Amino acid sequence: MADLKGTVVTWLGHATVHIATAKGTSILIDPFIEQNPKFPKNYKLPEKIDLILATHGHGDHIADLVSVATTHHSTVVGMVELTGWAQSKGVKNAVGMNLGGSWKYEDLTISIVEARHSSGIEDGGKMIYGGEPIGFVISIQDGPVLYHAGDTSVFLDMQLIRDLYHPEVAMLPIGDHYTMGPKAAALAAKYLEAGTILPIHYGTFPVLTGTPAELAGFLEGSGIEVKALTPGESLR
Ligand SMILES: [Zn+2]
Repeated sequence: MADLKGTVVTWLGHATVHIATAKGTSILIDPFIEQNPKFPKNYKLPEKIDLILATHGHGDHIADLVSVATTHHSTVVGMVELTGWAQSKGVKNAVGMNLGGSWKYEDLTISIVEARHSSGIEDGGKMIYGGEPIGFVISIQDGPVLYHAGDTSVFLDMQLIRDLYHPEVAMLPIGDHYTMGPKAAALAAKYLEAGTILPIHYGTFPVLTGTPAELAGFLEGSGIEVKALTPGESLR
């Protein structure tokens, strides 16, 4: 298990993750709360959410983006088309970025990396262009480097993410059907050379059949550790 040096990473079911750094910066990724069947029942979002990171425009990633950003006065970070849409819905503070870019905030550097998926935003029966889907690398000062892959297939350029950022913990979708499954996620883990994999985006709906046990099976002997959490549980 990577030493997180005071950072706490809490899985909230599906692709929703909360990160609190040792210095107190609070980040929520892909808020899917009200309609998320795996959102932990007794979990209450922290009052302070500085940043909300959105990987792409699908409902299971941004359903609660606008409401949480409004209630918690958070800054929304993501692809420029997606943050533009959020602002058109009433979000006050947003940082629109694009692939390859990094942005510094307090004790963090947030970098936008590629993901292989789609990113249409369904809005009032229309499909709006949401820009490219992305992943995030979160480099924490005096702390770990975390990677949230968003929804993606495996792709060889994950080796560039390894070479540029050296993530220690990778949050990878393993559910299959809409993203990579366990076999491909194991290859992704090997490309990334992250010591710890936090599996996400599985078990939420019946079609998301991949399991952490399958992932661990494909990674046997690799030295890469799979940390399967229950929703509401944290890596520390
Ligand atoms: Zn998804």
